Amino acid sequence: MTAADAPELDLVEPHMLGFLTQLGIDVEYVRAEGNTLWYRDRDGREIPVVDYAGGYGALVLGHNHPELVATAQQLLADGTPILAQASLHPYASRVGAALNTILQREFPGAEPYFTVFANSGAESVEVAVKHAELDRVLRVQALFQTVEAETERARAAVAAGQAGDPAEFDRLLAEVTAHNAELAGRAPLFLTPEGSFHGKLVASVQLTYNAAFRTPFAAMAAPARFVPLNEPGALAKIVEAERVSARSLAVADGTVRVVEHEFPLFCAFVLEVIQGEGGIRPVSEEFAREIEQVCAEIDCPIVVDEIQSGLGRTGAFFAASHLGLRADYITLAKGLGGGIAKTSATLIRAGRYRKEFELLHSSTFAKDTFSSALALRVLELLEADGGAAYRLAERSGERLLALFEALRREFPEVVTDVRGRGLMIGLEFRDQSAATAAGIREAAQSGVFGYVLSGFLLRAHRIRTFPTASAVNTLRFEPSVHLSQAEIDQLETALRDLCAVLARQDEHRLFQG
Ligand code: PMP
Repeated sequence: MTAADAPELDLVEPHMLGFLTQLGIDVEYVRAEGNTLWYRDRDGREIPVVDYAGGYGALVLGHNHPELVATAQQLLADGTPILAQASLHPYASRVGAALNTILQREFPGAEPYFTVFANSGAESVEVAVKHAELDRVLRVQALFQTVEAETERARAAVAAGQAGDPAEFDRLLAEVTAHNAELAGRAPLFLTPEGSFHGKLVASVQLTYNAAFRTPFAAMAAPARFVPLNEPGALAKIVEAERVSARSLAVADGTVRVVEHEFPLFCAFVLEVIQGEGGIRPVSEEFAREIEQVCAEIDCPIVVDEIQSGLGRTGAFFAASHLGLRADYITLAKGLGGGIAKTSATLIRAGRYRKEFELLHSSTFAKDTFSSALALRVLELLEADGGAAYRLAERSGERLLALFEALRREFPEVVTDVRGRGLMIGLEFRDQSAATAAGIREAAQSGVFGYVLSGFLLRAHRIRTFPTASAVNTLRFEPSVHLSQAEIDQLETALRDLCAVLARQDEHRLFQG
């Protein structure tokens, strides 16, 4: 099936198709291997494109890695049962074990983590959020039991004439009961840095900073407080302003007193160690330490979203390894299925794990043999030769960073910043909404400037990349670990040309090139 066989009126998100056409990126790719995608030109010849978008970060091992293709083919050839729910699932179990072996190496002495599988990145965030909320609700119940038992003891003491005045006790009790009822009715509060992207499902989109994605659905799920990224003291200040206590009554020295108990209002702190869609922005070491310290103080679990940064892309299996940041929950998706299967995993630290969750949450496709077997092979490939893949990511990343830094020095009027680590790099272009060339200015003003750059790189240089979803002046570079010098050279030529075109405001070439 090719585009020629496609229906005349495409009923699949037709407006998005119009957008792609307008930008000249409405290409049908017919073959893929490693970092290359091919499309056919009008004469039917295959034209190679170097793919720096890398399936939005899912292609850590490249397109159609031969070992992964062989695993998929073998499973099907063997007639392996793909869906046999409520039975043993040895491949998923082995993935869980392999992830724990890696965790032990990256965070020596870590507790075991239990794994809950799902099918997409946002879904694994929803699993983390749902589990954290179950844990919070159970902690609230336990707290209210303590509060009620304590208050009951005080009531008995007052009734026995050992303390206080019964009428005063009743007045205090009414106050405390109303206060606790108000707390019990509150929605949980999530904390996440400004710029975060954690998905577009109902709960996860509330953790996604971009207002356009989030605000239409604000009434559907619990809100988040957005913490300025890497700003010392900001988190502590927000927490102090929101922190609340449940109250009990207790007798001490013959008088009835109101006792405050920290109320678990904060459900989770959710963060990306390197923000992806927010423009490739790393969390600082100091910010990580502050998150750990503040969250420990209020007993708020930390969810580290490694959906984009994980699976070795940054030079270590977890980006959190670089900061020594220990999470209560870790989400993995994208690269876990090797670019062939759709799978995701939420790792939950044993000390936080609630066994009740297993009966409350499920998904038809989660833990299926096809994606689990592929995930297992992905982990084997990444870990092979003492983690050679991580070293490749680190080395290629250094080369790309050196190239981008050189461009920034050469074209300071065009390139404003270079950020990232390993093969998760962002190249930020200067805002062009006051550009002298009208076409460039209008593209920038309507928020599509980054996509115009994508169109130029594809048409003129056969380089594929896109802006990050929420920071559209930043182009993302997330190729596979098997990146060749020739692919880097092709990128260098393309970006140098793009920067020169922008520097001389050559809109004709930018739009037609
Ligand atoms: N979290 C992060 C950090 C992501 O980068 C993404 C996707 N870009 C998601 C969550 C959502 O993943 P998915 O698109 O698979 O739902």
